[in-house]
Amino acid sequence: MTPRPVAWGETRYSIDETMMQSNILARTADLPKHSPWREQVRDAFRDAAELLEFLELPATTTTQPRFPMLVPRAFADRMEKANPDDPLLRQVLPDPGEHRVESGFVADPVGDRDARVGRGLLHKYHGRVLLVSTGACAVHCRYCFRQEFPYADNHAGSRQWHAAIDYIAANPEIDEVILSGGDPLMLSTTRLKELTDRLAGIEHLHRLRIHTRLPVVLPDRVDKSLLHWLEHLPWPVVMVLHANHAREFDDSVDQATRRLRRAGVHLLNQAVLLKGINDGFESQRALVRRGLEAGVMPYYLHLLDRVAGADRYEVTEATATGLVERLRRELSGYLVPRLVREIAGAPYKLPVL
Ligand SMILES: *Cc1c(COP(=O)(O)O)cnc(C)c1O
Repeated sequence: MTPRPVAWGETRYSIDETMMQSNILARTADLPKHSPWREQVRDAFRDAAELLEFLELPATTTTQPRFPMLVPRAFADRMEKANPDDPLLRQVLPDPGEHRVESGFVADPVGDRDARVGRGLLHKYHGRVLLVSTGACAVHCRYCFRQEFPYADNHAGSRQWHAAIDYIAANPEIDEVILSGGDPLMLSTTRLKELTDRLAGIEHLHRLRIHTRLPVVLPDRVDKSLLHWLEHLPWPVVMVLHANHAREFDDSVDQATRRLRRAGVHLLNQAVLLKGINDGFESQRALVRRGLEAGVMPYYLHLLDRVAGADRYEVTEATATGLVERLRRELSGYLVPRLVREIAGAPYKLPVL
């Protein structure tokens, strides 16, 4: 298996422009006290042996991972020491099984390539487009469905979003732009603002959506400049977080989500059903309850996208439907996520139950 030529996590960043004058300064007493988020990305665990040592676990046999490991310390701090089955660790620790060739597990399981309509722009569903704004992310989940995505030629970062903006401007049926990636919040706030300033000139846009895992894995990303940007956007903003386990939430995440909500952002969560991590009833119930405590409503529960290298995470459809059936019986309706599967070429994410 030869590693892909994509520079996962190797990006070096310029210092973000700080926005000093913000009307939210008055209520930012709970702002982060740790090092700035970019430094935290720089200092993230990139070596499995180092992470295992930090967790007081024995080193395992090392194989070259399918793509580099990347785990911020803020996330590793929430892992239980000396527990090889920790549900957070299991999401991010490379495994020799990633090199297994399993039929049905492919490079592009959701048909992203066929949905490309311009550099970094995917138009799959009516009315909304997804902008792959960067290939970088602060955490490399081993089941990432875009792990093989050719970001080098196909993201709209680095001021290369003219084509995407032209496409959106020329298609009045598009009223929502989804910033995704990678993780869009890996871009500097200055860069994000440049992008939304351009989008603000398009009259038929009415909503902005941001798909991000950073408020969960690196809550200090929710800093003053980000909040200032969010507060001043001209559209309703929906942020879809990605947490798979109740233990991904802690006090620092609660503070980040509180700040986001104060900035007027609607918070939803999507999770992926993962074998051995969150495929039990208790685990799913704890996730949606804990999410609500952080002000986050469940959105989707995805069946695993069958990306090459991720077969060890797959949960059977029977287990998934049984699980959601029980959630429906025992929880308030709004706490039950929609169980969906993404099929390449389908007009929406297909309900499984
Ligand atoms: C998932 C996805 C969306 C959003 O779908 P919703 O059902 O509105 O959440 C949009 N575009 C692409 C390319 C997607 O993969």
